[in-house]
Amino acid sequence: MKAIVVRPGEKDSIHMRDMPDPQMSDDHVAVRMLRVGLCGTDAEINHGLYGKPPDGEEFLIVGHENLGVVVDVGKNVTGWAPGDLVVSTVRRPCGQCPNCDAGENDCCISGLYTERGIMRRHGFMAEYYTETPEYLNRVPKEVEPFAVLLEPMSVVEKGIDHAFLLQRRLVTWRPQMAMVLGGGPVGLLGAAALRARGLRTVVVGREPASDMRAQIASQLGAEYVSVEKSTILDLPQQVGYPDLVLEATGSARVVFDAMEILGPNGVLCLLSVTGGAATNEEPIERINQLLVLGNQVVFGSVNANPRHFARGVEDFVTIERNWPGVMSRLLTNRLPWTDYETWFTQRGSGIKSTLEIGAQG
Ligand code: BGC
Repeated sequence: MKAIVVRPGEKDSIHMRDMPDPQMSDDHVAVRMLRVGLCGTDAEINHGLYGKPPDGEEFLIVGHENLGVVVDVGKNVTGWAPGDLVVSTVRRPCGQCPNCDAGENDCCISGLYTERGIMRRHGFMAEYYTETPEYLNRVPKEVEPFAVLLEPMSVVEKGIDHAFLLQRRLVTWRPQMAMVLGGGPVGLLGAAALRARGLRTVVVGREPASDMRAQIASQLGAEYVSVEKSTILDLPQQVGYPDLVLEATGSARVVFDAMEILGPNGVLCLLSVTGGAATNEEPIERINQLLVLGNQVVFGSVNANPRHFARGVEDFVTIERNWPGVMSRLLTNRLPWTDYETWFTQRGSGIKSTLEIGAQG
């Protein structure tokens, strides 16, 4: 079958080639790919900075944000049928640590997990894949147009889930305002998930208020604040101190500013997987004092497990009912998958780019 691959560790090695068809067994579901979403992790892998091929192989089929349709079901599999829309999870257990054994692969402690399209396991920029049902999530027809966003949505859902779990340390926690730093796909998905929970939500981005990111935020009933001409430290004066912050700018620098604007008992969730080795001077004594005197929590969050995919599907249904069409507006650049180089070489503007691999039906 045709697939888009890289040679991990090498810069700009992305290309399309014939790869062996995936193995089907009585315990597998076979899925034909409809589309993949492109994200910064894919770009980092093609820069040679991240990612590994499956053990003993030269190439890695990239792509982890996925949407496909079931085409074949092994005879031991129940509950799936050809024609079902499906999104696969990304991470697979290490088989050695208690968290993976308990189904919390996203919190693996051995570091020996695999990730489809990223770490030692083939991804979804291919015509087909096969998988066992435990890693598959059914997608209702009504969210099909934007269901390729479910994987990044699951990452956001995990962050919010963990923030609320952490806040159970308090006898009462009634968040008045949530803030999302970054108006990219993860930031806007975060805003949508917070609005689905009925929270007052402020989205902060560098783009001016006329930008489509701001329009999408306001369609969701969120407020948008541009920091084009101001700084994050000015935000409390404008909108107040947030009880919950999702950091999704992709810039590690912002993390430390975010620590300075968090409200009392607040929680800051870091979602950006940043590469590089930059250093910076920070007001460490002031930040420490604020965190201590404010009983604040700062935590990182990566990947997601099946309950976060399930919550993502639920929220997608709620969001589409409350604000019809808004999620599809995130999918700004739809490329035929043979045009993958356009994105990998130019990136360009827009919010989320997808590669269209197959049509439904
Ligand atoms: C993916 C996660 C993955 C992480 C680290 C992100 O882009 O969405 O599923 O765990 O990269 O590899």
